[in-house]
Amino acid sequence: MGLNNLRSLYQTLVLDYASHPRNNHKIENADQTETVHNPSCGDTINVFIKLNSDQTKIDDVAFTGSGCTISQASASMMTVAVKGKTIDEALEMTKFFSDLSIGKEVDDKALAMLGDAAVLTQVMQFPARIKCATISWWALEQALLKKGQEND
Ligand code: ZN
Repeated sequence: MGLNNLRSLYQTLVLDYASHPRNNHKIENADQTETVHNPSCGDTINVFIKLNSDQTKIDDVAFTGSGCTISQASASMMTVAVKGKTIDEALEMTKFFSDLSIGKEVDDKALAMLGDAAVLTQVMQFPARIKCATISWWALEQALLKKGQEND
């Protein structure tokens, strides 16, 4: 895909997710929640995770929060990407997203796992906005790791 096509896909998807956010609500009986702030832009993302009965898979994931278009669209894309995944897969995807956001290459399988969220790596061109794209993934990672610690 050419760079111009990727740019316009990025703009289209970010606007679509920002105006029609997926999974943008609280989960009242969540197994884990996490809130992350991005002081440099003023974004706040709250992540809610509901696990399956043996605590290995993300049955449901949602977010609330406020902030710029990129932070809200990224949170929405993240919830779509990780819903139904195992905790291990979701942590792996967090690593893929983080690698992409710092300009590392990842393979096609990783890009396919990230789905629409992969397009947000276009934000690398705007270093000041990278945090806006990554905070929802940080919140997810921290919530999932916190869960593991509680089990120990
Ligand atoms: Zn932001």
